Amino acid sequence: LDTATIRVIGAEGEHLAHNYNPLPVVISRGEGAWVTDVEGKRYLDLLSAYSALNFGHLHPALVAVAQEQLQRLTLTSRAYHNDQLVEFSAGLAKLCGKDLVLPMNTGAEAVETGIKVARAWAYRVKGVPAGAARIIVAGGNFHGRTTTIVGFSDDPDAHDAFGPYGPGFVQVPFGDAEAIAEAIDENTAAVLIEPIQGEAGVVIPPEGFLRRVREICTENNVLFIADEIQSGLGRVGETFACDREGVVPDVYLLGKALGGGILPVSAVVADRDVLGVIKPGEHGSTFGGNPLAAAVGARVVEMLASGEFQTRGKALGEHLEKKLQELVGNGVTAVRVAGLWAGVDIDPGVGTGREVAERLLARGVLVKDTHGATIRIAPPLTIRATELDWAIEQLKVVLAG
Ligand code: PLP
Repeated sequence: LDTATIRVIGAEGEHLAHNYNPLPVVISRGEGAWVTDVEGKRYLDLLSAYSALNFGHLHPALVAVAQEQLQRLTLTSRAYHNDQLVEFSAGLAKLCGKDLVLPMNTGAEAVETGIKVARAWAYRVKGVPAGAARIIVAGGNFHGRTTTIVGFSDDPDAHDAFGPYGPGFVQVPFGDAEAIAEAIDENTAAVLIEPIQGEAGVVIPPEGFLRRVREICTENNVLFIADEIQSGLGRVGETFACDREGVVPDVYLLGKALGGGILPVSAVVADRDVLGVIKPGEHGSTFGGNPLAAAVGARVVEMLASGEFQTRGKALGEHLEKKLQELVGNGVTAVRVAGLWAGVDIDPGVGTGREVAERLLARGVLVKDTHGATIRIAPPLTIRATELDWAIEQLKVVLAG
C-alpha cells in the first residue's frame, strides 16, 4: 500500500526522534471539532490536544486576533515593554481573582515557575532555612517533562531513566487530605496538586478533598498550588476544577488552552504577597509574555470571562456522562466524568485502550489512550451535542466488537 499516510509516517521515522507513539493518522487541516487527514478523510477530534484546543481548531475570533497581531509585532523579549501584556495580565488576574500574572510558554515552565515561587516564598516570607523547603505532591501526578518535575513522578516511563533527581519533594497518595496533613512540617512550602488528574485517566478526588486541602494549607501556612493546566479554563464546566468545590488556591498554574490552540502560552497567577517574592533578574523567559501570545491569551481570557464556554461544557458534560454511564457493563468497566472531560476504562475483554483508539480512528473518531486500559475524552467545548452523540455511537459499535 502506498498512501500519503504511509509515506509521511515512514519518512518521519528517518529523522524524527521517536519520543511519541502517535495514532497512524496524518492531519493536515482542522476546523472546530473536526480535522482532515492527508487522504481527505475527516475525523471528530475528541482529544483537543490534551485540552489545549478547548475552543476547537481555528476558532475565528482567535485566528483573527493572531492574524492582526502578526501584522504588527510578534516578539520583543521582556527587555522592553510591549503594548499587549497589560490587557492579558489584567484580564487573566481578574478571571482568577488574583493580583499578579507571570507569563511563560509551556505547562512545564509554569510548574517550574510555581516551584521557584513557592521556594522563594518559603525562604523570604515563611522563614524556612535556606535550601530546606519541601513541596508535597501526589501519587499519579503529571506536571510535565523537565528534570525536576519527572523527579517527583511515580510513572516509570516518565521517571526512571532520568535521574539524579532533585530533592525537596514528598509524595502522598492522591485524594488523601489527611496524608497531606501528616506530611507537612515546618519547612513545607507548598502542596502542589492537579485538582483532577488528567494524564492519570481523569481521576477525580473524593468530594471535599480540595476543601480539606485548602483548610490544611491555611492552618499550616503552606501554599496551595493548583495545577489547572489541563483541568482549567472551561474543561470541567467551570472556569477551574477548584471551582467545583468552591475552593481558591493560592497559586494557579495555567497553560494549554490559554494559547487558544495557536501557540504555547502558560502563566502562574497569584496574589502579590506570593508572586511578588520574585524580583527582577530572578526568573524569566525569552518568549514568555510575547505580544503575539499576549494578544491571543487576552482574547482567550475575554472569551472565558463571558462564561458561555463553561456553561456549554457543563451542559454537554452532563449529556456525555449520561451516555457514558450506559456503557458501563457493556465493554466499559468504569467512567469518570467532570464537565466535558471523561476517563473511560475499557474492559480488557474488549481490548486495550490503544486498540479501542485505533478502532475508533477507523470509524472517524480520535481519542487518546492513557495507562493501558483507559481512553480519555476531551472534545472541544464548541462541539455540538449531535456530534458527541455520533461519536458515542461509534464507541458503542467498537465496544460491541
Ligand atoms: N501539568 C498538567 C496537569 C498537564 O496535564 C501537563 C501536560 O499534559 C503539563 C503540566 C505540562 O504541560 P506542557 O506539556 O505544556 O509542558
